[in-house]
Amino acid sequence: MIRLENIHKYFDQQHVLKGINLSVNKGEVVSILGPSGSGKSTLLRCINFLEHPTSGIVEINGKRIDIESASKADILSLRTSTGMVFQQYNLFKNLTVLQNVMIGLTSVKQMNPVDAKNVSIDILEKVGLKERLSHYPVQLSGGQQQRVGIARALALNPEVLLFDEPTSSLDPELVDEVLTVIKNVANEGNTMLIVTHELNFAREISDRIVFMENGIIVEEGTAEQIFNNPSVERTKQFISKAI
Ligand code: ADP
Ligand code: MG
Repeated sequence: MIRLENIHKYFDQQHVLKGINLSVNKGEVVSILGPSGSGKSTLLRCINFLEHPTSGIVEINGKRIDIESASKADILSLRTSTGMVFQQYNLFKNLTVLQNVMIGLTSVKQMNPVDAKNVSIDILEKVGLKERLSHYPVQLSGGQQQRVGIARALALNPEVLLFDEPTSSLDPELVDEVLTVIKNVANEGNTMLIVTHELNFAREISDRIVFMENGIIVEEGTAEQIFNNPSVERTKQFISKAI
């Protein structure tokens, strides 16, 4: 479903992604672990072109583009294949919960408002927010806001869901409600790439775990391999310190 080949990203002189190769199968849940500054967010942002990779090939569901020769139309078409959930939720503060979820459907997908509303209500029910349709983000807890963020990503029915530290901004007592929603989304067979520091969650939910450091993938394997028998010393240190 996702294939990245030799992705490089520079910010000016700083070489942040140094040749990333990664494939994710349809329905697979892959977690990306690694220390702060290792390039995890940049990698996710390069997959949906919030950042433009410097070079490499990005393929999503058979649509394959070489960064150095890609047209704007190619990039737009790949962007609409992905949905992203951000650490800071990134909701529109002047829109209600329902409007936040509907807007992608009416604008990007040009769905008529009646259908968009029905689809959005169904999804908000799934994330436990049916009673909050007319609330504004400021009236919600962080956990509720992030569930709106997840609903908004799901509404577009993307081929790939990207999560960038979805629980890192939350007070500890609100983390579980969001992780539960993400687990449900994973159990529905969605293809997901998750950057997280919640190691127990990653271990439980992931088909595969990727460990990144300093712009490269140091090691990847099943949760079992990475947690019980990491082959690279750096992974070992990271896992042991974090648990
Ligand atoms: P992680 O998500 O693993 O913590 P990031 O991908 O956010 O790491 O950052 C990797 C490196 O790239 C860091 O050194 C960061 O300062 C740098 N970086 C990230 N985004 C930008 C940007 N928009 N402009 C310049 N440097 C950036
Ligand atoms: Mg990050």
